[in-house]
Amino acid sequence: MHSKYADSFSSDLARARADLLSEYFNCQKEMASGEYRKVVGSGLEEGDRSTMYHFDQMALFKLASCKKQIDQIDRVLGMIKSGNYGICSCCHSEIGAARLRSVPFTAYCRDCQEQLDGQAKERVRRVAC
Ligand SMILES: [Zn+2]
Repeated sequence: MHSKYADSFSSDLARARADLLSEYFNCQKEMASGEYRKVVGSGLEEGDRSTMYHFDQMALFKLASCKKQIDQIDRVLGMIKSGNYGICSCCHSEIGAARLRSVPFTAYCRDCQEQLDGQAKERVRRVAC
């Protein structure tokens, strides 16, 4: 099966992937240059080191976030290529366009996602009690 919405998402996703890749490399370049460390101070003071650590953590988080999103886009682009994009992994029905626009990386239709969320909440409730 192949969702009729797959082709329209493909170019949007490819564009988003290119933007994320650019952001990823710019962040890597910034980290490698140490540019943001220069504005912090000497790095000898405890406050400077703390601020640098904070900047490093933010940059690493940004890199990880970009990588995760790129991986998700690659997964979706692979699904589009194989003709499985927009098809629910659970009930195999077509996922609605509105849901795909708001959650383009979803593998489930709204009904199945709600069931899965409900099951997860039930497991958490049982563990908590
Ligand atoms: Zn479903």
